[in-house]
Amino acid sequence: MGDLNKGLYNKYQIINRETGREVEGDYFVLKPATDPAARAALEAYAEATNNENLKVDLFAWLETMPEFSECDWCGEPAVELSYPHMFDLAIGKRMCRGCWDHDREAYKGAYGEDIGPFHPIGGDKA
Ligand SMILES: [Zn+2]
Repeated sequence: MGDLNKGLYNKYQIINRETGREVEGDYFVLKPATDPAARAALEAYAEATNNENLKVDLFAWLETMPEFSECDWCGEPAVELSYPHMFDLAIGKRMCRGCWDHDREAYKGAYGEDIGPFHPIGGDKA
């Protein structure tokens, strides 16, 4: 199961690099390179912080991230899209990883056919 519908849960163990120990308290991990909501949160944080060096660094980091494109199936923004798979050859259309993985499971279950793993155009960026 992917993360899309899981809600909030304790996904990551956070280790302090200086002490080598797990940190105490609650943390929230973001992956802005591939998650539009995470990128929006990071932009909001950069706007809100009083740490000017951090603000500059965060905006510089955001500048390096790939543009999002819209998936032709779900309409959601994604940094990685693939050409359609063999059972859905829509010429000129592009499919996100989530739609690909959904279709892969559906075709395995319904027809016993595996469309194979997601292969983003231009290679993996995540
Ligand atoms: Zn999609």
